[in-house]
Amino acid sequence: MILEKADIESALISNSITQKMYINGEWVLSESNQIREIINPANGEVIGTVTEGSAEDAKKAIEAARKAFYENGWMNSKARHRAELLLQISNKLEERKEEFAYLDTLNNGKTLRESLGDVEDAVNQLRYYAGLATKPHGQTYDVPDDIQAMVVREPIGVVGLIVPWNYPLVMANQKIAAALAAGCTVVVKPAQQTPLSVIRLFEIIDEVGFPPGVVNLVLGPGSKVGAELVSNPDVDKISFTGGTDTGIRLMKSAADTVKKISLELGGKSPNIVFADADFEAAVDYALYAIFANQGQVCSAGSRLLLEESLYETFVPELVKRAKMIKVGPGWVEGIEMGPLVSEDHMNTVLDYIEIGKNEGATLLCGGNRIVEGDFAKGYFVEPTIFGDTTPNMRIVQEEIFGPVLAIQTFKTEEEAIALANGTAFGLAGAVFSTDGAKAHRVIRQLRAGITWINTYHPTFNEAPWGGYKQSGIGRDLGTYGFEEYLETKQINVSLKVEPSGFFQGYKE
Ligand code: NAD
Repeated sequence: MILEKADIESALISNSITQKMYINGEWVLSESNQIREIINPANGEVIGTVTEGSAEDAKKAIEAARKAFYENGWMNSKARHRAELLLQISNKLEERKEEFAYLDTLNNGKTLRESLGDVEDAVNQLRYYAGLATKPHGQTYDVPDDIQAMVVREPIGVVGLIVPWNYPLVMANQKIAAALAAGCTVVVKPAQQTPLSVIRLFEIIDEVGFPPGVVNLVLGPGSKVGAELVSNPDVDKISFTGGTDTGIRLMKSAADTVKKISLELGGKSPNIVFADADFEAAVDYALYAIFANQGQVCSAGSRLLLEESLYETFVPELVKRAKMIKVGPGWVEGIEMGPLVSEDHMNTVLDYIEIGKNEGATLLCGGNRIVEGDFAKGYFVEPTIFGDTTPNMRIVQEEIFGPVLAIQTFKTEEEAIALANGTAFGLAGAVFSTDGAKAHRVIRQLRAGITWINTYHPTFNEAPWGGYKQSGIGRDLGTYGFEEYLETKQINVSLKVEPSGFFQGYKE
């Protein structure tokens, strides 16, 4: 699919006016009177302006969400009703699939084929959680007394949903779908760089017609708007996806109100390739693991762990293919890798490449910003691969979140496992081997929440997503993601209504 000028204009049509926030069922400008320009990272052009929210706006959204939940009845809303609303959103989103995909491509830089996949995922998430809302939840217990003991699950209340820029629509959507299915009210804060598709999703939410205050959208910087959501005592839970440093700040702030939080954070995930792996599949997936979405994937296979005897054949083939990746604007047919999300982020990635060179790693390919012709206007970085790394290098330990791969080598299975687990992160990991027992053995030793054998990246809305160690707390997606928005209440019902007889003193 090619994005023509007319398509771009129609995708952006409602962006010609300053985009608003959605608070208490109304579209509103921020009291700050400030606007933020939204940039197309493929050419640096302004593609829209949005109102720049403040902490005051976040407070209003929280108040509206609180009123909707505690005073206006959403707390007792019926699962079937919520499921129907979610299904309506999914149908409308599906009808406008291309438009939403264009928006994420223009705003984030990702290729259209990836954006389309994201919108399809978003549609499916809404349907999955619509289905889950009406399924049985809770248990009964066989206890020694004449008591019917049971557990019911109840919505947690007002939840703040804070999301990053790398999957603008789908990250927000997966949290909205699960939280609404569970019966919560929500305040959503997209990343300030990439709000356009989430604002458009709220057009649909508005059409579908939730009671005022059930679903709110606030825009603006994390340091003000996001921080307010986290510190405000009227927010019952925060579900956050973003960087580990931000997650640490959030956790500290949330502690003041003993706020429940779930954190989906960064990664530095190992992709382990044994000498007995299927060569074609392993090379192919090693590229896909790191260069999909320009490497801006939390679960990216950013460390390739190669069995030493494979190095001489594997690395030249990998480098050859990396050099041939077709880089360009994400909307052009045949383009395989787009620009990074912003100039700032590109500079961070380029700084890491310098760090890698200074640390003594060997630059095998890439390493530069692409500046020929029109590329100079965008934030394009070449697919980059480093060899001769050591475990303590920063490019091996720290998340770069760009198209930069560090290769490590190992001689034994034990060494592969030790290297794989040798960072502070624990989000994802993969093993390539045709020895099934070995592949299983190794995967079971990985301290990571999302793993693969003989593949990389496929994940499903049905299955839990999240990390070990400093990659996070809790899970998104699947039934686990739903549970994150539920409280657990024990109810004990006497089957024999009579006094307990515990205090007898009054009888004397
Ligand atoms: P980020 O942490 O800078 O920002 C994420 C969100 O948090 C944004 O909406 C931002 O405005 C907000 N924020 C920033 N400071 C805040 C504060 N003090 N209080 C409240 N909110 C605040 O992350 P990013 O640069 O947007 O995204 C990239 C990071 O996200 C990477 O580290 C990546 O690994 C991680 N990520 C993780 C997952 C996962 O599922 N584990 C998925 C996608 C991205």
